[in-house]
Amino acid sequence: MEYKFIKGIINALGCQNVLKVDFSPKKTCNFDCIYCIVGRTTKWTMKRTEFYPVEEVFSEISNYIDHNGTVEYVLLTGSGEPALYSGFGELSEKIRINFPNIGIIAYTNGTLLNRKDVQKEFANCNVLGCNLNSVYDEEFKRICRPLKDVRLQDTLNGLKEFSKHFKGILKFDTKFVKDLNDTERNVLGLIDYLKEVQPNNYTVISKKYKGQELTEEFTSFITETMKDLPFPVELYL
Ligand code: SF4
Repeated sequence: MEYKFIKGIINALGCQNVLKVDFSPKKTCNFDCIYCIVGRTTKWTMKRTEFYPVEEVFSEISNYIDHNGTVEYVLLTGSGEPALYSGFGELSEKIRINFPNIGIIAYTNGTLLNRKDVQKEFANCNVLGCNLNSVYDEEFKRICRPLKDVRLQDTLNGLKEFSKHFKGILKFDTKFVKDLNDTERNVLGLIDYLKEVQPNNYTVISKKYKGQELTEEFTSFITETMKDLPFPVELYL
């Protein structure tokens, strides 16, 4: 069978045997992050849409699991922000009910998690990765280049609220890019924010942009300030 939504088996968010499922047209997002590996955003939206019928996506997942080796997790992703798929809740629910031994993973920019309906749908995830590059508007806009309707404060509030009730594994990551979000106030602000959220894991990644890397002074500052946080931290600087 030729698959339209199934993108193969990968490792993701520390999990192995992850079936990657992509359910949105390339590239649908409300950000246009400087470092995005999917490419530039071509479909800008904040509106949740059923890009493809849930039944069609689920039938591929089901077929793949029935005919192929071990699948331990399903990664529900889009070529962009997965919460923009309005079928996310129904699809994750179908997987949960029909394949109770398979975990559900998603990775989000968190912008829609201030909505109760999205919080409820993402509660189906066993592992959720959230990208958060800044707690300050200036740095946030420089690295994420969001749609003008995106409000950073709403995202921060939504993620914090969601984290209080989420039963799965919650992982956060920050990508730092030179001259965009590499300010000391941002590092300190992220730390303060994450101390309230208490993620299960936090990963910090340095991203090279236009040949520029973070300064040694800044990476040392990160290493020093993040050495005793009350949650596990992984640094890739
Ligand atoms: S939020 Fe994700 S998909 Fe959207 S532009 Fe940023 S990295 Fe790319």
